[in-house]
Amino acid sequence: GAAVTLENVRKIYQLGEPVHALDGVSLSIPRGSYTAIMGPSGSGKSTLMNLVGCLDTPTDGTVIVDGKDVTALSERERTRLRGTQVGFVFQTFNLMPRLTALENVALPQTFQGVGKDERRERARDLLARVGLADREDHLPSELSGGQRQRVALARALVNDPALVLADEPSGNLDTDTEADVLDLFAEFHDAGTTMVVVTHERHVAERAERIVHLLDGRIERIEELEGVGVED
Ligand code: ADP
Ligand code: ADP
Repeated sequence: GAAVTLENVRKIYQLGEPVHALDGVSLSIPRGSYTAIMGPSGSGKSTLMNLVGCLDTPTDGTVIVDGKDVTALSERERTRLRGTQVGFVFQTFNLMPRLTALENVALPQTFQGVGKDERRERARDLLARVGLADREDHLPSELSGGQRQRVALARALVNDPALVLADEPSGNLDTDTEADVLDLFAEFHDAGTTMVVVTHERHVAERAERIVHLLDGRIERIEELEGVGVED
């Protein structure tokens, strides 16, 4: 089955002149697949990610996440679905300024009933995998932009979400760190996580199984990349 299905989705922002951010998008994202979204600025990438992540609802059409029709859920039910299913790796990383890197990464698990020692261990493991083993006691203000982004990445992945949504995940990263992050995504994908990554970088998109090209709020084309079988 599909992790996410969009059927004829339209999103219109109404601030004065209506903006058709998405204009009839149908897309099925198979469970366990790895999808990249590309397109020029303003083509609807962020709007699409917000819908897939249950942060927003469409003006028209249907969004189904984990078998549930998002448009039929209450705000509260959407929040729960998000919390249990989705890991967000977005540019606005919202780390808690008074918590250390380790505490920030461990935080989401407190809402999942995980014990304290296990939380710390899992957070430590994720921080090591993003190359920040020696920074766990630093506050966000003591970290560089790229390091903060990696803390946010570790936090997004710590609950083992079924669906990971990443918006320009390697935007501020140097080449080595970017490679680490993309390798980490590949590991999660290999373990069965559904990955959706918005990027302007062709080489980042090419780590996915297919690239969805957006233009003016529509799917211009879907490019299947070599050596994969994502159909299910
Ligand atoms: P992208 O991520 O590809 O740059 P967006 O999804 O952010 O595209 O935006 C698509 C269109 O919708 C753009 O014309 C943008 O200006 C508009 N838009 C996005 N968010 C809002 C909003 N909250 N209110 C009004 N217009 C918006
Ligand atoms: P990045 O490429 O990850 O953004 P920077 O070049 O900004 O890295 O930072 C390089 C080093 O400087 C990092 O190892 C980081 O620990 C340190 N650093 C950056 N900002 C601060 C800060 N505000 N306080 C302490 N150390 C910092």
